[in-house]
Amino acid sequence: MRTLLALLLPSLFLLPVLALAPLQDDRGPDEEPVWPRCIQCKTTGMEECPDKVHKKVDCGLETNAHYCSEVYGCETCGGTGWIDCDECERPDVDADLAGRRERIPGIRESVIKYDEEMGFPLHTIVTDHFEIVWEIDSMKVDKKRLDQHELMHLWADRMETLFADYVDTLQVKDGSFQQRLRLFVWWLPKDQKDGSLRFCQQGNEEGVKLLGLNPTYSLCGNKKSHKNDESLHRNVVHNVTHLLLSHQNPMEWIGNKKGGWADAGLAHWFEDKYFEVCDTYCYQEQNTNVDFKGGKWKPAVRKMVQSGDYPKIGTVFSRNTDGLELEEHAIAFSYVDFLIHKDAKMFNLLLSRLRSKTPTRDALAEAFGLSPIQMEEAWAEWVKDTYPLR
Ligand SMILES: [Zn+2]
Ligand SMILES: [Zn+2]
Ligand SMILES: [Zn+2]
Ligand SMILES: [Zn+2]
Repeated sequence: MRTLLALLLPSLFLLPVLALAPLQDDRGPDEEPVWPRCIQCKTTGMEECPDKVHKKVDCGLETNAHYCSEVYGCETCGGTGWIDCDECERPDVDADLAGRRERIPGIRESVIKYDEEMGFPLHTIVTDHFEIVWEIDSMKVDKKRLDQHELMHLWADRMETLFADYVDTLQVKDGSFQQRLRLFVWWLPKDQKDGSLRFCQQGNEEGVKLLGLNPTYSLCGNKKSHKNDESLHRNVVHNVTHLLLSHQNPMEWIGNKKGGWADAGLAHWFEDKYFEVCDTYCYQEQNTNVDFKGGKWKPAVRKMVQSGDYPKIGTVFSRNTDGLELEEHAIAFSYVDFLIHKDAKMFNLLLSRLRSKTPTRDALAEAFGLSPIQMEEAWAEWVKDTYPLR
């Protein structure tokens, strides 16, 4: 190496023209080349598909999905919703669109099974990590009424946001999830009952999860079950967190192996992160009247800790998810909050040990060097120092 440098350096001095080279190299490998301005496509290289087959479907929404049943079947755009701009040359966009077109039939094949199972055409959207069947016609989101197609793409974004957040928060390695997660949102209770039986191997009119290998959540999203978009969103965030945790390598559901505190705690943690409210309970998902302190858990936990009257760690660590008492849900959430705050990567290790059937006590010692009693003391101090009073 040294000889090579020695040989090159003098030649640099001899050829001043080489000084230009680093200027060009300043442009990182990821930086976009500058394309000529094009008015027709606003220099994006593509235009919404003009084919009449789409009627009133908004092809402009087709930016966040690999497949959308609403634009599938069009020969002009191959089901992508977009075509190359004929006014400008964009080989990168052409290649991207061609790749998308090519993958669509394969994805279609894997999701059309659901239509065949149900016996009617479903509204399906497929993203990097999710297959979403969305059977709600329209819904109000932040005071604006969205139609079915808009909702499909909104939920595609929401689910990918949660996925990215989960992976970032816990610093999960690439390749830790084998399959796309499946989310079925029905309007009619009878479709939910039928769909959950078919796709989650257990039917009811509210919501059913299939954890582990084929992670699936099927639920009825109508107003009787979820009063508005926000409460539906919160419920799905909670339950999809359960799916992610159980499907992550090594795959296992810890909720029935005394890992209830971590299983429920993490699901509540994401509810709290986005909404500052926790009101989803897995032992009784259908009972929307269950409430602990209005779902505002940080002040509730702080009060419990200050009064010294709260469920003890040995008890909380011994529960399955469906055996957690109301206040234990809040404590479990707070344990997770504490450990993520302490070292999220080590918390991810702890979760992985729990999935490999290591008892909480041993996993906690390995990941954090704490016994349960030491953890409880440190956690209680942290809660007193950091949680709000109201
Ligand atoms: Zn153009
Ligand atoms: Zn679409
Ligand atoms: Zn088209
Ligand atoms: Zn839960």
